[in-house]
Amino acid sequence: MKLKLAVYWTGSCGGCDVSFLELGPGLLDVLPQLEIVFWPALVDAKRGDLEKLPSRSIDVALVNGVIRTAENKEMVELLREKSKQLGAYGACAHLGGVPALANHAPGFTEVVFGPGFRPASPWPEAPEDAPPALLPEALPLDEVVPVDFVVPGCPPPAGLIARFFQAALSGEVQAGQVFAEDKALCEECPRTREERRLTRIVRPHEVVPDPKTCLLDQGMVCLGPVTRGGCQAACPQAGMPCTGCLGPTPKAGDPALAMLSALASLVRAGEEGEDAFPQENQILDSLVDPIGTLYKYAYAKYARPLQRLARRREEVRA
Ligand code: SF4
Ligand code: SF4
Repeated sequence: MKLKLAVYWTGSCGGCDVSFLELGPGLLDVLPQLEIVFWPALVDAKRGDLEKLPSRSIDVALVNGVIRTAENKEMVELLREKSKQLGAYGACAHLGGVPALANHAPGFTEVVFGPGFRPASPWPEAPEDAPPALLPEALPLDEVVPVDFVVPGCPPPAGLIARFFQAALSGEVQAGQVFAEDKALCEECPRTREERRLTRIVRPHEVVPDPKTCLLDQGMVCLGPVTRGGCQAACPQAGMPCTGCLGPTPKAGDPALAMLSALASLVRAGEEGEDAFPQENQILDSLVDPIGTLYKYAYAKYARPLQRLARRREEVRA
């Protein structure tokens, strides 16, 4: 029996659809075991084809992308109904991803499309040439439909895609499974950590990092301490700090709060001899774009509740 597979993209860049090629020759083992029943990026299947399928007739559906439009929402609801198991594939479906940073700037449509632009409100009887019916906010998949498992990453790395197919093809995907490590990325990073203190914060283009030393020790904000392992520390190995695409470890929870706490304790560790080091707040103030750095992928998942609380507080005060 072949595994009946569906793959669908919502608000995404397309990288997740291409990422399956990362399996390389391994793809030749996987493909013969699949029956692709719906995958618009690969086969010419339309929404009507999906609607005709019996309920729960798809074994596994993978959705990549953030839920941004009314159509995205309708399609994932349809896929949920037609599938036995549905997974969030990639950081956008998992956490909201980079496109969900738009939630931080509700007026962004006017900046992009010009003053006075108003997206169509969701679910109207809209004419064909109407702008997309945007939802009020960009949402991670599990805020729209129940999600059975997650294959994280931006896009998911080859090792984790292989791990997913191995489990799916043997019918061993567990409810709530995340195809990455629970341990932090630092555990699998070959860079050495010695300094344990932060005396400055630098951006990647401002330094040529030492090839062996921990990037955090060199002043780069590397999210390794709060991010799930599973990519073999691909970015730090290439001299770039981890930006957190595999999502936070279960222990870290909110990645921005956890990382701020880590940064604050590292800065404190550098305070011995006040003449030698700038003050703690000066160092932390030099972090450019804290939201984009600390919540690059997870803004919709973790910052939105705080944002709503802040708005509510303002309303009550007014
Ligand atoms: Fe952790 Fe990043 Fe340092 Fe590697 S470079 S040990 S991932 S903080
Ligand atoms: Fe993603 Fe971090 Fe791994 Fe890079 S190092 S692939 S950002 S989890």
